[in-house]
Amino acid sequence: MKTGLFNLSGKVAIVTGGNGGIGLGMARGLAEAGAAVAIVGRNEAKSNAAVADLKQRGVKAISVTADVTDKSAVATTVERTIRELGRIDILVNNAGINIRKAPHALDIEEWDSVIKTNLTSAFLCSQAVYPAMKAAGGGKIINIGSMMSIFGASFAPAYAASKGGIVQFTRSCAVAWAADNIQANAVLPGWIDTDLTKRARQEIDGLHDKVLGRTPAARWGTIADFAGIAVFLSSAASDFVTGTAIPVDGGFSVMG
Ligand code: NDP
Repeated sequence: MKTGLFNLSGKVAIVTGGNGGIGLGMARGLAEAGAAVAIVGRNEAKSNAAVADLKQRGVKAISVTADVTDKSAVATTVERTIRELGRIDILVNNAGINIRKAPHALDIEEWDSVIKTNLTSAFLCSQAVYPAMKAAGGGKIINIGSMMSIFGASFAPAYAASKGGIVQFTRSCAVAWAADNIQANAVLPGWIDTDLTKRARQEIDGLHDKVLGRTPAARWGTIADFAGIAVFLSSAASDFVTGTAIPVDGGFSVMG
């Protein structure tokens, strides 16, 4: 029986990119707290597996196969979630990609694809859920940034631009929608062991040890590290918390 400030029973969440990595870690946290979850991703098989995982936690879950850069697919995602799960209280804008190249080597198509996936998608999804949240009397939006929301990255100019942008977009929604009782916050992960960083570890010599040396907690983050922050920012516990950008990084961003 879930009670109190962190109880999400009766709430409905959309988690983009929730079929793996950090998004799945957050979706599991929300499900454990009682929320029904719509998992959004392009890979249907992966999303179906995530849905089965969430259902085992005793909540309703659906898989929506959609590309979050496509405005009409986003509209369909919102319609289906409301039709099948009844409402929308929580949106986690987590879908993201990276293309590892220096600024002088990145072409415009690569730049556009990273910005669209990491930043424009958050705009499209937030705008699409706003009417339902406003009508319901409130809501919670969680946007996923990065350490590159704070630091520059010689090998990821579009990624860093998108993640810096997501923090300012979060603040703008927080200010615009505070009167509607919608709280918008960003989460800035440190180095987390997921498919995204597996590739980086293969491509960048010594990355694994560099991260360990630079992280005060002396470990890589796991997707389970994102359950708690997801529940906090989705629950009544954070009703006066809005427009923030919270690092979940084992101290990476405060290491001198
Ligand atoms: P993963 O590669 O494991 O997850 C990315 C997710 O995004 C997948 O579920 C993927 O699903 C989904 N996705 C990508 N493009 C689209 C799209 N166009 N439409 C719908 N879904 C899409 O990576 P992480 O879990 O590591 O990353 C999640 C978020 O966390 C990203 O925003 C990333 O930038 C951020 N982050 C990660 C860090 C890390 O160390 N891992 C550090 C800082 C930030 P599918 O392929 O099915 O579409």
